[in-house]
Amino acid sequence: MNCIFCGIVSGEIKSQIVYENDDVVAFKDLNPQAPTHLLIIPKKHISRLAEAQDGDAELLGKMLLAARDLAKKYDIKDFRLVTNNGKGAGQSVDHLHFHLMAGRRFLWPAG
Ligand code: 5GP
Ligand code: ZN
Repeated sequence: MNCIFCGIVSGEIKSQIVYENDDVVAFKDLNPQAPTHLLIIPKKHISRLAEAQDGDAELLGKMLLAARDLAKKYDIKDFRLVTNNGKGAGQSVDHLHFHLMAGRRFLWPAG
């Protein structure tokens, strides 16, 4: 499998990692769309949220807790957490990720 984010997990592809535990990694987005723009991913390859299994419940919870911990670490009070599921929704990398964005105002509904 040729997956950029699996390459980041293995260290084959360089990234600025800001958080890591046994199951989850977070790193800076290469093309940030906000002053803070981090990507939170499972180390395990799951292509998108729709492909997650019931058995991934704990892993998905850990991704959300990583967002909580990162907000605390960076002293961020207001943030947006987004996942794009499928090309039509804007997904360009087929490895599940949450965008954690902060530091500017965000429109709602999202564009
Ligand atoms: P998506 O469009 O799938 O929701 O988000 C993918 C994100 O991954 C984009 O914001 C893009 O900038 C980021 N990205 C793509 N390739 C790389 C990479 O090699 N390194 C890092 N750090 N981010 C990447
Ligand atoms: Zn992957």
